[in-house]
Amino acid sequence: PQNAGGAAVTLRDVSFRYASSDPLALDSVSLDIASGEHIALLGRTGCGKSTLLQLLTRAWDPQQGEMVLNGIPLNSWTEADLRSRTSVVTQRVHLFTSTLRDNLLLAAPNASDEELSTALHQVGLDKLLDNEQGLNAWLGEGGRQLSGGELRRLGLARALLHNGDLLLLDEPTEGLDAETEQQILSLLRKVSTGKTLIMVTHRLRGLANFDRICVMDSGRIIEQGDHQKL
Ligand code: ATP
Ligand code: MG
Repeated sequence: PQNAGGAAVTLRDVSFRYASSDPLALDSVSLDIASGEHIALLGRTGCGKSTLLQLLTRAWDPQQGEMVLNGIPLNSWTEADLRSRTSVVTQRVHLFTSTLRDNLLLAAPNASDEELSTALHQVGLDKLLDNEQGLNAWLGEGGRQLSGGELRRLGLARALLHNGDLLLLDEPTEGLDAETEQQILSLLRKVSTGKTLIMVTHRLRGLANFDRICVMDSGRIIEQGDHQKL
């Protein structure tokens, strides 16, 4: 059955603009992604990468074209089902003014403290536990602030905990040094085996292990291939 796990994604002639007076943010995008495939979406700033990811989370619906997940049109999925299937890290990760624990639990309400700690360890955020408050440490206003790179890693920890079979990651390694970037990319590779991964980036660096790289420009996919080809 088409709905038995995994996440195959199809976009057919998808066009989208934010407002009727805006130019097309996506212009007739067609894309077939097999279940378990790892795709990098590459392109210059403003070319439509985040927009494409956002449409897949149904933050907006396209004015034209069709989006299908596992044979079922995206707009026929219930919000809850779609959300439980997808792990999303947006370009700007939001920190809630609350405890570290709460900041993680919102992605996986039933996770144990041990699972939360493991996720923090996986993304290299052990440091946040390195005080007597541990998971009770207060973050955000009146508490500890996180750097840009730490925020991204917090977003990744949430995605790992949520454990959807479709991972949508918007520049998860932006602002990280090369070594941390490598660590995160190999972690991603490990945790997303058998899952469908779409990762937005604007660097070709580190994409050798992706099955396919789709290059976007002005709302279109202009080239596709593996790291070798591009
Ligand atoms: P970057 O690499 O800078 O993140 P991007 O490829 O993710 O760029 P998008 O954010 O998808 O680009 O933007 C595509 C186009 O849509 C841009 O012209 C942008 O200005 C416009 N745009 C993005 N978000 C909105 C919005 N919420 N309202 C109106 N226009 C938007
Ligand atoms: Mg973007």
